[in-house]
Amino acid sequence: HDYTKDDIRQMVKDEDVRFIRLMFTDLMGSIKNVEVPVNQLDKVLDGKIMFDGSSIDGFVRIEESDMYLIPDLSTWMVFPWGDEHGKVARLTCSVHTSDGKVFVGDPRNNLIRVLGEMKEMGFSNFNIGPEPEFFLFKMDDKGNPTTELNDHGSYFDLAPMDLAANIRRDMVLELENMGFRVEASHHEVASGQHEIDFQYDNAVVTADHIQTFKLVVKTVARKYGLYATFMPKPLNGINGSGMHINMSLFDKDGDNVFYDKDGDLQLSQTAYYFLGGLLKHAKALTAVCNPIVNSYKRLVPGFEAPVYVAWSASNRSPLVRVPASRGLSTRLELRSVDPSANPYLAIASILEAGLDGIKNKIEPGEPIDRNIYHMDGQERKLDHIENLPSTLHNALKAYEADPLMKKAMGPHMYQNYLDAKNMEWNAYRQNVSQWERDRYLDML
Ligand code: ADP
Ligand code: GLU
Ligand code: MG
Ligand code: MG
Repeated sequence: HDYTKDDIRQMVKDEDVRFIRLMFTDLMGSIKNVEVPVNQLDKVLDGKIMFDGSSIDGFVRIEESDMYLIPDLSTWMVFPWGDEHGKVARLTCSVHTSDGKVFVGDPRNNLIRVLGEMKEMGFSNFNIGPEPEFFLFKMDDKGNPTTELNDHGSYFDLAPMDLAANIRRDMVLELENMGFRVEASHHEVASGQHEIDFQYDNAVVTADHIQTFKLVVKTVARKYGLYATFMPKPLNGINGSGMHINMSLFDKDGDNVFYDKDGDLQLSQTAYYFLGGLLKHAKALTAVCNPIVNSYKRLVPGFEAPVYVAWSASNRSPLVRVPASRGLSTRLELRSVDPSANPYLAIASILEAGLDGIKNKIEPGEPIDRNIYHMDGQERKLDHIENLPSTLHNALKAYEADPLMKKAMGPHMYQNYLDAKNMEWNAYRQNVSQWERDRYLDML
């Protein structure tokens, strides 16, 4: 919606909104917000609300810490809960520096910048449809999450195996109240695992939606005494949680430029080049699409998560799948992304990789239509199939080796991200785990 300041004032009155949450996202993908009472509305609408940027992960140093929140009025939304002190609404904001410039360390601003490069190339929309998966765990007496699942259902099961059907329905209703168009919700393959899919929209709207989605899912789960986690691989030996990213480019007439009824598989040359770019930069992208140590415990053979750099129109083991729908729904599905990714950074990097493919006419090579999990190392070598990085450390090496990443992140975030992630890897590397003691202590 293209709301004006007056529309917002009217909605505040009509809905008797008492508080406004100003939200943005930090480098690591956490939502941040400051809540102001509604008497501050004019200040909010004039972009005069300030905060201390040096207290936000990966933002700025102390000496340049005053920053402004400029609300994006189109993101106005009234939260459907928390009425006991009056209604709460939110506005997603763009972070600006004290001298009024767009702050380059704000991941959302950065996505808008990369979308600008796309527009200069003649496309008008990068459409994104995410498929976020999550687990529901029981909580202990103190309200902390346990690793005890709340059901033992599996893919597309119904009650009584799927005890969470009511909870999911509640989540879907809350999401729809907030303006989401939910397409499907189902139990996933693993016990206690669920998926809710919502309709694709342009990149910024979807990234905002992903952030709101996590908040809603966690809030509703808590109402039922459960903890919803988007951790990529919370349990050994069963599927992890992915967040497949479906994508397509549209032109100014609203046509899907990935579709060509006369092309191979009815895909356009542009779609093939975009795919070529994704595959070329796949290893470096992993550092952003799979950003935490735990992400790499999911990217292993046998759990429906990708392990190898390849594409296919017919099977789900490769990194990129071309789903069967054509026409407006023609799309590429990148299956590596997990829900711990900062959606703004992940989508910006994916787009930059695809645009590089188009600019440099990068061919994706032949599809791999066999189940790659069942091919041995020799067969994969013959087909030139490479592995995705196996650890955060290897992904960060690929990130540093690929000049595209600096373009995708902008120099400020490129370096801050690398430093923070190297620290995370080092903390992990130095930790002696229970697995090691179980394996080695009484053997040596
Ligand atoms: P899967 O086949 O992997 O199970 P789903 O049907 O669960 O896929 O999810 C499909 C997602 O793709 C939805 O979010 C949907 O809105 C989105 N989608 C459909 N058409 C497009 C498109 N043209 N561009 C981007 N995303 C799209
Ligand atoms: N949970 C799987 C993953 O880790 C995906 C299952 C599916 O195909 O939806 O990506
Ligand atoms: Mg799924
Ligand atoms: Mg999928």
